[in-house]
Amino acid sequence: MRLARLLPRIWPLLLLAWAPAAASSEAGDAGFDLQEVAPGIHVHHGRHELPRAQNHLDIANIGFIVGERCVAVIDPGGSRYVARRLRAALRRVTDRPVCYVIDTHVHADHLLGNAVFREKGVTFIGHEGLPDALLSNEEFFTRQFIEPMGEGGGPDYFVVPDHLVKIGEPMRIDLGNRELVLQAWPKSHTGSDLTVYDPGTRTLWAADLLFMERIPPLEGSLKGWLAVLDELEKIPARQVVPGHGPVIAPWPAALAPERRYLSILLEETREAVAEGLSLQEALERVGYSERENWVLFDDVHGRNVTRAYTELEWE
Ligand SMILES: [Zn+2]
Repeated sequence: MRLARLLPRIWPLLLLAWAPAAASSEAGDAGFDLQEVAPGIHVHHGRHELPRAQNHLDIANIGFIVGERCVAVIDPGGSRYVARRLRAALRRVTDRPVCYVIDTHVHADHLLGNAVFREKGVTFIGHEGLPDALLSNEEFFTRQFIEPMGEGGGPDYFVVPDHLVKIGEPMRIDLGNRELVLQAWPKSHTGSDLTVYDPGTRTLWAADLLFMERIPPLEGSLKGWLAVLDELEKIPARQVVPGHGPVIAPWPAALAPERRYLSILLEETREAVAEGLSLQEALERVGYSERENWVLFDDVHGRNVTRAYTELEWE
């Protein structure tokens, strides 16, 4: 592999390796942005950056929904640092207790802050595939993110949800005159994707099943993800909270760019496989018409092509 092609993929790792243990933060001094996108639905905007110690993994849209009795946190954020700031912001909005923490999937930028919300009366919810995915990533997350951020790690750092949503069996939770519908999806962005729907405001919290502006990273299944988008589109939402992108967007129009990118990835990788191209040749050809449409394209797209090629090679 040519160095020029390799560099964009390894430089985030190099940056992490250079990060001082107790990184002084870009995020530390800035205000913690929080917007009420619908009555009682509050979202913090994550910046379009790669995960690194300096940004405390404050790179995903996270937040909470307030009911008459209690509050559901949806993704506590990518570090204890971010989760503490989210908790402080939550306390400025309401004094009702947190009764649920919902982890939308296994990615570090969404759930490393879990332990900040661990206390009596708080139930942690996730996809049925999340516990195994989290356990198998603990060592990687510790080495890659937690230690460079200076947050220590150890057995108390991780909270593994024990209230699990099964694929095909939506779960309803009540926050007090506000019922949320949680749905677990087959392999798509990852193998542990969960969405939250608030029928009262017709708001869908899609988390990382929906990327806007920032290129969607494929870790689960390309065909699976496109199939899940078709199912998601049937949800009668009026608006959506994407995992990355604006804090709120019109539904289902917001789906279009991601679906276009994933469809091109599917079609062009299929063509490459059918023509007998090697993975290296596919990497040089597939998907480049999308390059100008996405932030962080050069950092993520090559990995997506590799995943797609591996998935489609034997279909
Ligand atoms: Zn993700």
